[in-house]
Amino acid sequence: MAHARAYAPANLDARTFDALAPHYDELLNRPVATADDLEQLILDRSDLDALVAECSANLYIATTRNTEDKAAEAAFLGFVREVEPKLKPIASALDRKIAASPLAGALPAGRYEVLLRALKVDIELFREENIPLETELAELDQKYNQTIGRMTVDFDGQTRTMPQMARFLEEADRGLRERAWRAINARRLQDRDAIDEIYDRMLALRHQMARNAGFDNFRDFQHRRFKRFDYSPADCMSMHEAIERHLVPIQRRLDRERARDLAIDPLRPWDLAVDVKGRKPLRPFEGAQQLVDGCSRMFHAMGGGLGEMFDTLRRGDCLDLESRPGKAPGGYQYQRQHSRTPFIFMNAAGMHRDLVTMVHEAGHAFHSILSKDDPLVDYRNAPTEFAEVASMSMELLTLPYHGEFYSAEECRRAERERLEKFPTIMTWIATIDAFQHWIYTNPGHTRAQRTDAWRALAKRFGNDVAWDGCEDARDAAWQRQLHLFGMPFYYIEYGIAETGAIQMWMNARRDQRAALENYRKGLALGGSRPLPELFRSAGLRFELSGALMQELATEVDRELVKA
Ligand SMILES: [Zn+2]
Repeated sequence: MAHARAYAPANLDARTFDALAPHYDELLNRPVATADDLEQLILDRSDLDALVAECSANLYIATTRNTEDKAAEAAFLGFVREVEPKLKPIASALDRKIAASPLAGALPAGRYEVLLRALKVDIELFREENIPLETELAELDQKYNQTIGRMTVDFDGQTRTMPQMARFLEEADRGLRERAWRAINARRLQDRDAIDEIYDRMLALRHQMARNAGFDNFRDFQHRRFKRFDYSPADCMSMHEAIERHLVPIQRRLDRERARDLAIDPLRPWDLAVDVKGRKPLRPFEGAQQLVDGCSRMFHAMGGGLGEMFDTLRRGDCLDLESRPGKAPGGYQYQRQHSRTPFIFMNAAGMHRDLVTMVHEAGHAFHSILSKDDPLVDYRNAPTEFAEVASMSMELLTLPYHGEFYSAEECRRAERERLEKFPTIMTWIATIDAFQHWIYTNPGHTRAQRTDAWRALAKRFGNDVAWDGCEDARDAAWQRQLHLFGMPFYYIEYGIAETGAIQMWMNARRDQRAALENYRKGLALGGSRPLPELFRSAGLRFELSGALMQELATEVDRELVKA
């Protein structure tokens, strides 16, 4: 019988291809005569892949911990340029050896169906002639990122980046907000044509890729490529309708309340980020130690073994939290697949959003910890639609325990902020997803038609805001959404995950113990089962339709009205 074992030698240095090649060759050339042989091949490959994945993770992590470390950068780039490209054809050959094997049908079905159906899609969609198109797309995406990254604004005597400018939109002084907003958008509009040009070329290439693979349009091709076995483009459309029907009205009511609280009529685009009560930003902690201590107490108080899991992160080198010069921006959780230990990276500076990032990434780490014993590396990762349930649930479930960081009033403020995020992000996700459905099912459209389509969506899903005199900025707003350029159609995953997270929050309000038990059950499955089953095991419905959205909207809205 096949069994999980350490196949890769413990001292194998995965940083060079030459060290890996003999082991991958052995897998490629190994005779497979029985289903047990095939299973052993899958397990051994998984062990070797995990070692390579951990090597890549460690090299990447090192570059983000110190962006000035030239040796770390060279090591990472060396891996990306020298090792990864050589491993790709080997991986593809192994995929074929496994999925196309006549013995695949004799593998234990419940155990391998998810792996096999994924491998089959990769084989089915592979087209040699699409490789140069993908290279050109990657270069275009880089050009887009450079165009966006280069944008600066001279404002009040200083040259500032766009993220620096965004802070002015939170200022209480309305005149200052308006000037900042206008400066930001004037700068963006300078590159509007250049970005349209990049996008037009991307659309042509993507359409061609889809045609090469035998699809009518890129939307259907990409849905297949993302292995969306459990929902279709039509399901996405019904989710847009559900959001339009149940969440847009809440969003617009919140907009009107905002206008009332700010004593402004009408609300303008520069009035959306300021605190309506003119309060100072929340300051939950000082220093990473306080953040970790507070989170540990909070997770212990929540029960369900979360505190114990969180505390394992405090041992060994699992956390790099504090902001310091030379650190890369942002935050992430990365599972090191061979040692099976998570790593959390962030830039904590004592802000509320840092606390949100911490509990979000802790949720991902819980997922890594609970699924780490699966012998298949592929099954130790869940699809984004469920992986983000693990993390976003923690943003919500920790809310009643924020007393570790806040006064009672500040707790209510943090809770309200998170609940308001539900309609806000869902309406934006629907806008971006519906836009792409239109884009890719109308190949060859003109820029004017594209603008019309975007305007119609702004009307359908947008805020209750007066755009008079600023229509150009509204019409070009999609150009800021980097997913449209580098990761087409990758976005609705977060909307689906949010429906799971809100359900988890509702479940916990009724029965915290049962909710956390189900949370653990669902997470422990990793990516070994289809999406609807992952949701079900976590006590959640997997549903993109209006009925579920209405229930979620009703419950969230009841809290928003109360507060
Ligand atoms: Zn996440």
